[in-house]
Amino acid sequence: MGADKLLSFEEAIEKYEPVLGFEVHVELSTKTKMFSGAPNEFGGAPNTHVAPVDLGLPGSLPVVNEQAVRYAISLGLALGCSIAESSRFARKNYFYPDLAKNYQISQYDEPIAFEGEVEVELDDGTLVRVPIERAHMEEDAGKLTHVGGATGRIHGAEYSLVDYNRAGVPLVEIVTKPIFGAEDRAPELARAYVATIRDIVRSLGVSEARMERGNLRCDANISLRPRGQEKLGTRTETKNVNSLRSVERAIRYEIQRQAAILDAGGTIIQETRHWHEDTGTTSPGRPKSDADDYRYFPEPDLLPVMPSKELIAELRAALPESPAAFRRRLQAEYGFTDSEFRDIINANLLVEMEQTVAAGAAPAQARKWWLGEILRIANARGVEAGTLITPLHVSELIALVESGQLTDRLGRQVLEGVVAGEGSPDEVVKARGLAVVSDDTALLAAIDEALASQPDVLDKIRDGKVQAAGAVIGAVMKAMRGQADAARVRELVLERAQA
Ligand code: MN
Repeated sequence: MGADKLLSFEEAIEKYEPVLGFEVHVELSTKTKMFSGAPNEFGGAPNTHVAPVDLGLPGSLPVVNEQAVRYAISLGLALGCSIAESSRFARKNYFYPDLAKNYQISQYDEPIAFEGEVEVELDDGTLVRVPIERAHMEEDAGKLTHVGGATGRIHGAEYSLVDYNRAGVPLVEIVTKPIFGAEDRAPELARAYVATIRDIVRSLGVSEARMERGNLRCDANISLRPRGQEKLGTRTETKNVNSLRSVERAIRYEIQRQAAILDAGGTIIQETRHWHEDTGTTSPGRPKSDADDYRYFPEPDLLPVMPSKELIAELRAALPESPAAFRRRLQAEYGFTDSEFRDIINANLLVEMEQTVAAGAAPAQARKWWLGEILRIANARGVEAGTLITPLHVSELIALVESGQLTDRLGRQVLEGVVAGEGSPDEVVKARGLAVVSDDTALLAAIDEALASQPDVLDKIRDGKVQAAGAVIGAVMKAMRGQADAARVRELVLERAQA
């Protein structure tokens, strides 16, 4: 497999128009699976969360998970879709070892949700409307682990292990229509679209939507057509790209790869492709099957899903504020500039910010701590800032600093303690003995000691050179390892001079 030839991105876009499309699979966080009572839990020893239905054992029959249907309807509504009065499950037939039944129960010609639209915001605030074709329910397959190969892929592996814990986990697959007009911002739009779906799903609480765990998986389609040509080009589908940044990179790479082939007079093969994080390239997967190959037919073991108008109205009324509206509202409330606000969004800290402010912190202080010290620690450790500390603890920390019980410097030490799991800010203050000392007796003792080595300071102050007090304050702060209340020390030194 030789290296692909690439055209420069700029030249590719000048000659060809990119047309995007996405299939995003979202694992629903129901208690049990889509068609069985087995637990839907991440982790667990292999093949322990498995019911007969998940293995396709003879005589086992599927039962639709009501909560999964409710989640799918909520998600469909949040995507601006119409909800079908009647929708049907269908069998999608194919053999693969991670699918013990030899078919996946999915939806085909009657999906539960169809014809929606999602507003996606690019980094500079440009809004793009992405048309949604459908959102349908289906079940996940099991997970194969290939052992012995160099890359963990099937090629070169000596044997493979199968874990059916994931088999039957409820999924919603969200399919877009072709997306035109993204032009040179196609890679950025790809990332922003997946981020938007993730945010919507999280705001609904229907999935944890953690890409690194596979709760949210994106297949990114892209085709190119020469400028001025109406007919769509042949598309490729890059599978299971598992981070937002990878989605952007994969689309950019495919544009450059396909452009080079077209430029050389070649043809694009309709196929799935694998994204390789390490090399930043894609490689061929399998030729893309057409729907005909799957011999879809209505699932005979399940009744159509016919949600009542009342249920749909109830779920519509319960929809939370959309992430886009949430963002607009918070920016207005916080009074931040566009760029100040974008920093928060880019750091994925909007929810944390809102909860910190809701717990009592001023927006400017919340922004200072989250985007400052907390983000610095998070970046150093390569984790999300939101996983380090709870918004409540950040708010408590800010209150301690604002009330003068902690200096900024002590606040940072308390933060380190909280992040290290030593407890709440109050508990860390106590355990580490970090509070600012404002007890006059202790402060006066330190002041007298400092004055003993700088006896002329009091005379200078009496002569009107008040700034001379700075040397004593500095010495006291140093002696008390930063824990003195500097304002009180200053007052006490001036009182000493008047005595
Ligand atoms: Mn699917």
